[in-house]
Amino acid sequence: MGKTVFCVDDSPSIRMLVRKTLEPQGYQIREANNGQEALDALSSDAASDMFIVDVNMPVMGGFDFVKELKSRAEHSQTPAVFLTTESGDEKKNIGKDLGVKGWIVKPFEGPQLIKIVDLLTS
Ligand SMILES: [Mg+2]
Repeated sequence: MGKTVFCVDDSPSIRMLVRKTLEPQGYQIREANNGQEALDALSSDAASDMFIVDVNMPVMGGFDFVKELKSRAEHSQTPAVFLTTESGDEKKNIGKDLGVKGWIVKPFEGPQLIKIVDLLTS
């Protein structure tokens, strides 16, 4: 069975793009509309091999979500990357401090995303 990638983004079109990019590569995609929704799904559901996380989302944004993720023993080692419109160094440094493995600026290129996901889930 393929690896599972959890896409946490409040944009349905971005989630669809991520799905359409990764599913043909054999990945299973899980989706949540914001960090809180993702946390709720995590506590009751199957494991994820990687997280692709938006920064700006309602209810719970990407920084708070990843912080919470890293504090949970069962998810602290699961790779996460940000996929965001944000490209400033200040925000990127926050991401780095949170221990994320990558920072992808929207709009993303399919081959670029596949490369990163292949690398981080292998
Ligand atoms: Mg957003």
